[in-house]
Amino acid sequence: MTITDPTHTATTAHAASEATHASEAAHASEAADIDVARAALRARLLDDGVLIDLGSPGLYGRTGVFTRVYDAVDAAAVRSQADLDADVLRFPPVEPLAAFEQTDYIASFPDLAASISGFTGDDRTHRALLAARERGERWESFLQPADLMLTPAVCHPVYGLVTGTLPDGGRMFDIVGDSFRREPSLDPMRLQAFHMHEFVHIGTPATAQQHRDGRIPVMRELLESFGLEIDVVPANDPFFGRVGQMLARNQVEQSLKFEFVTPVYGHDHPWTAISSANLHEDHFGTSFAIRTADGEVAHSACIAFGLERITIALFAAHGTDPDAWPTEVLAALGL
Ligand code: 5GP
Ligand code: ZN
Repeated sequence: MTITDPTHTATTAHAASEATHASEAAHASEAADIDVARAALRARLLDDGVLIDLGSPGLYGRTGVFTRVYDAVDAAAVRSQADLDADVLRFPPVEPLAAFEQTDYIASFPDLAASISGFTGDDRTHRALLAARERGERWESFLQPADLMLTPAVCHPVYGLVTGTLPDGGRMFDIVGDSFRREPSLDPMRLQAFHMHEFVHIGTPATAQQHRDGRIPVMRELLESFGLEIDVVPANDPFFGRVGQMLARNQVEQSLKFEFVTPVYGHDHPWTAISSANLHEDHFGTSFAIRTADGEVAHSACIAFGLERITIALFAAHGTDPDAWPTEVLAALGL
């Protein structure tokens, strides 16, 4: 979900105030420019019947043409990782609050998290809810937290399943599922509800690092075979608040996570992350009490294909009619 700007240049400390104003103006017009580009892509996807506006920013229905490409992207991603011989796991789009707690997500991304609420009241409370609704007021405050969170990253539920000691060689999982992040936006590359296909390894420090590093060229080759221009850059996740700025710096400095970015809106604008490769070190091993066969704290790494982002990047790069796409792109997609 991070947008990285490989073209970003640092401002110099001695910038005069006019220069600052000029650069602010330039930034403002850059920002306006990218909003125009985002709105144009969104309009094209809606007008050409690729996506359907559901009336809330970042929520779309998907048509046949979208689904055709999306399914092809997913199948090609799976083919590209077939040698991992990963165990297939699927989870619902919500996870138990207790499992969510153990991931520590709320410490880093409280603004992206979202919980499920349900009605647990009696007849009287129901009448009060209906009266509020009748007056045109919000009524969700009559609902109670249901101890369920919308899953923000599809590998989260797996760690609780491997608490204890791993077999020799660790475990490899293939997980695809819904991901929800509360960040309404009119950028069609930023959805609130989307899917990731992840290949997750849990093992030793060496095998986790090897999984992340070894998969990067494979992922890059796949995405480039789709006719997309790709750069691999250190990720800059939007950690929340003051402490978050430090976490973000650590993430970059320690090169824990890389993103595959592509210039959806052209070379002059920030490139967009369509996949990622992430080393968690012992983060989940410690939180979920996972040990390697020789008794050390387990390390983990996951690679994630952002399925909607790759699909929309393809429509942006090649147009909204897949039948007119270059033959080598169609071949890479198996279309
Ligand atoms: P990460 O966990 O690295 O933030 O997300 C993994 C991948 O999911 C990203 O590389 C990206 O492809 C996809 N992704 C992240 N955020 C969004 C989003 O807001 N919208 C969509 N469509 N995909 C996202
Ligand atoms: Zn993951």
